[in-house]
Amino acid sequence: MSTTHAPFKSGIDLSPKSRAAWRVAQSGVWLVGAAILTCLLFFPPVGLILFWNILIPVAPALFVVAVGVWRNVCPLATTNLLPRTFGLSQKKKLTAIQLGKLNLIAVILLFALVPLRHAIFNNNGPATGLLIITMAMIGIGMGFVYEWKSAWCSGLCPVHPVEKLYGGNTFAAIPNAHCLECQNCVVPCPDSTPNIHPISSKKTLYHQLSGLLIVGGLPGFIWGWFHVPDESSVSSFRTLLSVYQLPLVGLVASSVVYIIVSMMVPAKYEQKLISVFAAAGVSCYYWYRIPALIGYGKFADDGLLYNLSNLIPVWIIPIIHLATTAFFFYFLVFRKPNNQSWVVRPPFAAKEKMHPLV
Ligand code: SF4
Repeated sequence: MSTTHAPFKSGIDLSPKSRAAWRVAQSGVWLVGAAILTCLLFFPPVGLILFWNILIPVAPALFVVAVGVWRNVCPLATTNLLPRTFGLSQKKKLTAIQLGKLNLIAVILLFALVPLRHAIFNNNGPATGLLIITMAMIGIGMGFVYEWKSAWCSGLCPVHPVEKLYGGNTFAAIPNAHCLECQNCVVPCPDSTPNIHPISSKKTLYHQLSGLLIVGGLPGFIWGWFHVPDESSVSSFRTLLSVYQLPLVGLVASSVVYIIVSMMVPAKYEQKLISVFAAAGVSCYYWYRIPALIGYGKFADDGLLYNLSNLIPVWIIPIIHLATTAFFFYFLVFRKPNNQSWVVRPPFAAKEKMHPLV
């Protein structure tokens, strides 16, 4: 049975019935993920649409509203946690410095990989498939060594910084369908800490840098990314560099704005400022992404899901801009912080079984 630890709110055990239901959901989403991966490798035109133009465009909104659902069913997480689920992990704990380093590398990976979509991944299914396989192999490797989600899902995964930025005021906490007992393997645990954000922990310089880069840099990075066209092939190093220019200019510009504003705003408003930048990032994403999906993109067929430009009048686009921006600012900035975590922390493991905090 669990022991409670004062600073944390401990949850309840999942009933066998709901654990079974989550296992079914995880298996279903895992099969969908495996099918998309197969398409990417062997039927690239289908795989690219499924992955880049359906799954990925849904993800940011899901992170805002219910990131816990994604954390429970993400196929990569399910795969990477298999060693732990089957009792094959050494269950080691990361030190705060190690975790800070992983968080910083995750942000750098995000900013390094996303521009490569224009150069390679958006038009190359096997390359995208290999990227996913590489991440799975690294994650599984880490899962054999480190406890629960600490090393990959809350450490090195390049999607995690975005989850942490957008998931600051989710709709409601749902059960944790992965960790059987809480081993306190990440402090603070992003899944179990109410209204978590990327600067919740300032333990080390690595934590601070990763927080600053993702909060300040992401909105500008997204803006810059949408102003770069997809390349059909990368013929020179210059072309490769060109996909980084605008995203990096945007990243630096919005980071500078964030640093200046954060120096002017009292510390008690830090979380509000972070939520403004989160809302700006996700609003900017959908500002460009939804029109591109339906044939009103900046660059012809880039990011096109289905061309509806003959059916949908062009004046709908500003309405979509207004509606999505209003929604995300309401949800993240104007809504009161609801003191909810992404998922409910499972009962703590008995103290003698828990690894000491480092
Ligand atoms: S809930 Fe506990 S065991 Fe699971 S990832 Fe968070 S800290 Fe680690």
